[in-house]
Amino acid sequence: MSNHERYVSIFTLTHLKIIDQHVTITEKGYTMSGYQVIAKKFRPQKFSEVFEQEAIVQTLKNAMRLNRVGHAYLFCGTRGTGKTTLARLFAKAINCEKLSSEGEPCNTCTSCLEITSSSSLDVIEIDGASNRGIDDIRNLSETVGYAASNGKYKIYIIDEVHMLTKEAFNALLKTLEEPPSHVVFFFATTEPHKVLPTILSRTQRFDLKRITPEKIEAKLSSIVKNLDIAVDEGALKVIANHAEGSLRDAESLLDQLICFQEPPITRDHATKALGLIQTDLFFQLDQAASHYDLAAAFTLSEMIFKTGAHLQYVLESLAEHFRTIACTQMGENPPLPEYATSAKIYSKYHVLETLDYLIDALEKGTRTPFKRIHLEVVFLHIIRSMKKIPLTSLVERLESLKSAAPKVEAATKKIESPVEEVPFFPETPTPVEAPLEPAPPKVEAAPQSIQEKIKQEQVMRFASVELNGSLKK
Ligand SMILES: [Zn+2]
Repeated sequence: MSNHERYVSIFTLTHLKIIDQHVTITEKGYTMSGYQVIAKKFRPQKFSEVFEQEAIVQTLKNAMRLNRVGHAYLFCGTRGTGKTTLARLFAKAINCEKLSSEGEPCNTCTSCLEITSSSSLDVIEIDGASNRGIDDIRNLSETVGYAASNGKYKIYIIDEVHMLTKEAFNALLKTLEEPPSHVVFFFATTEPHKVLPTILSRTQRFDLKRITPEKIEAKLSSIVKNLDIAVDEGALKVIANHAEGSLRDAESLLDQLICFQEPPITRDHATKALGLIQTDLFFQLDQAASHYDLAAAFTLSEMIFKTGAHLQYVLESLAEHFRTIACTQMGENPPLPEYATSAKIYSKYHVLETLDYLIDALEKGTRTPFKRIHLEVVFLHIIRSMKKIPLTSLVERLESLKSAAPKVEAATKKIESPVEEVPFFPETPTPVEAPLEPAPPKVEAAPQSIQEKIKQEQVMRFASVELNGSLKK
């Protein structure tokens, strides 16, 4: 069997076929070289492939169309939202020899190819975190004066620009004040508030949006289709939700998942690979709450503790679980059919109260040394609160009692009751004639309607005390 045949027979059978032409089989086994991670392989090479940042893309395209390319741009946003990708794309577009009428780079000219392979001399990428001193910026400033070697513009991309020292910022300021016309600066930062105002005022600032889980899922879905790997929708959803708006995070997680499990990859594989809490456990908690099964609080926390999960992480996931239930109750489509069942177990009020409680529990969780007990108490609270009377219904009951009260008053006036005001704890009248046998209180002698009034008044008082207590909490 030739090496090539061996490659085909082995790798078409396994998920590792994505490594495609970079894998060669030798007599001793296989060696790998030059595998491109998903995030790099599927990095947008055209503006139309950029996710979510339509407004920014439009502004950049207009700048080229109207010949108004600025000297400095600042891209702000959380990790993995495409800051450097956009900077590279713009660099490519303004230097492209065959720019399309829609403002898209051709990706075939020398300049485009060089920028794609990161070998262009006109695009200089600097990591602000490791080149943060004044000398680094001085070196940079010295090269600014030289003309671009190939393209029209010379582009400096400074990543994590907020990491520069104050002195470095000041050195940069000099260059920014009067840059040569062929130079464009791109700054990327996750913390724009740390960039000096004098720098900010000399740049055009763009804030990149977080990418929604739906968009991330769509992108992942197109990637797995392209790679021809069977990954089910549930697994992609888990990754998309876990990535917190960062497409790069999602792509790295997908890479990890593909190595963890042979296809077909399911939702369960994804939860296991990413070390996530199985949502099943939370659905079990919902069921336990519906049956008022207090013992489940202990068995569930035991199961979670066995997985070695961190308490804060469990509580965050639980809060996320209740958030999804709340969204389902408010009419959103549940991500899993089980959420529809859970949404029926709790009242809206109960879910919102639990969310409030979990936010508090998260804060307390950072301080308590008794992690396991803390988790048990949280589970117990959720189950026990099924029997708690909501404050709103207490108020409703009070209101209905109040509206019923005037009728009773009218009735008492009619029969000219001797009891004008009924004390909260009716005093026993002082016995006069028979000291050993205490005379029955006046109240007892009162007609039926008065007794009812007393009862209602007492209920009202108890309820107000209870209400007061609840409000103070
Ligand atoms: Zn080109």
